Amino acid sequence: MHKRLIIIGSGPAGYTAALYSARANLEPLVIAGNQSGGQLMITTDVENYPGFPEGIQGPELMEKFRKQATRFGAEIIDKDVTSVDFKKKPFVIKVEDEIYTADAVIISTGAQAKWIGCELRLRGHGVSACATCDAFFFKGKDVIVVGGGDTAMEEATFLTKFASHVTIVHRRDKLRASKIMQEKARSNPKISFVWDSEIADVVGEDKVEQVVLRNLKTGKTETVKTDGLFIAIGHEPVTSLFKGQIETDSKGYVKVHEGTHTNIVGVFAAGDVVDHRYRQAVTAAGMGCQASLDAERYLEGTVIEAMEPLKVS
Ligand code: NAP
Repeated sequence: MHKRLIIIGSGPAGYTAALYSARANLEPLVIAGNQSGGQLMITTDVENYPGFPEGIQGPELMEKFRKQATRFGAEIIDKDVTSVDFKKKPFVIKVEDEIYTADAVIISTGAQAKWIGCELRLRGHGVSACATCDAFFFKGKDVIVVGGGDTAMEEATFLTKFASHVTIVHRRDKLRASKIMQEKARSNPKISFVWDSEIADVVGEDKVEQVVLRNLKTGKTETVKTDGLFIAIGHEPVTSLFKGQIETDSKGYVKVHEGTHTNIVGVFAAGDVVDHRYRQAVTAAGMGCQASLDAERYLEGTVIEAMEPLKVS
């Protein structure tokens, strides 16, 4: 099937690109992924998305994005792309046995949680990166959250609704999280902190029973009993699909210039797959809009003027 524009990935960037390009009559196809909606689908309260003064749940916000895009004719399929070929024109995108071609592509595959390594063996058996998904299993139990950013504070705060105690283990003695999120965690009587420490090992046959903490200043290790281990140490871009096809930086984020243009003319990128600096739903949505406008100009053939370098007099 041939399309003028295919958007790979959903989330705020992909759905906003779909909304704008559908309204521009580009009849976009969104290949949204098996787990459509992106990271907001595993978030609870979103209190900083403008337009929702009382806050909104992440999944509900994404449902609204999706509805708004389909209202204007965006077609969405909830499957993973299996391969792409950006060396051919039109571009080729495979979804299992189905082959799609497109004149322009927007990449908005987002980012995913990072892991430490030693805990992977017990993923799903006490180890998780999603409190929203798994907190319920830790009713009345003790859990550890690793990380010092907003995600760690959010996960820890959410976990206190179920767990009897939450210990945040952070590798430094200063949190990276925003003031408001720090305050929420620090003032919660069910949360305590272990500073300057990392998880050296996880102990347990078929479920988490203990973790070995290593103090990074003294080198001393200590074994602590726990029922669960939540990893909240940041994210990495979902770009393995595009390896060898598109230019990325050393961390794998897609490189863009002049707005959302990648190194392949006709391929654009937006959201967390590009942005390791702001990584907010609202900034991703803004970039999705930019990518749609860039793709529209490219498809109309006006991109050359738009991309002329600035003349300095
Ligand atoms: P982040 O800000 O990158 O923080 C990651 C944390 O994990 C840092 O404290 C970091 O330590 C630690 N860390 C990284 N690698 C580690 C490792 N291998 N071992 C141990 N610790 C490690 O990531 P994030 O918390 O996921 O937040 C990402 C973005 O989403 C941010 O822009 C944040 O503001 C946003 N966010 C917003 C909300 C909200 O507003 N509701 C909620 C969640 C996330 P160092 O500090 O030492 O580097």
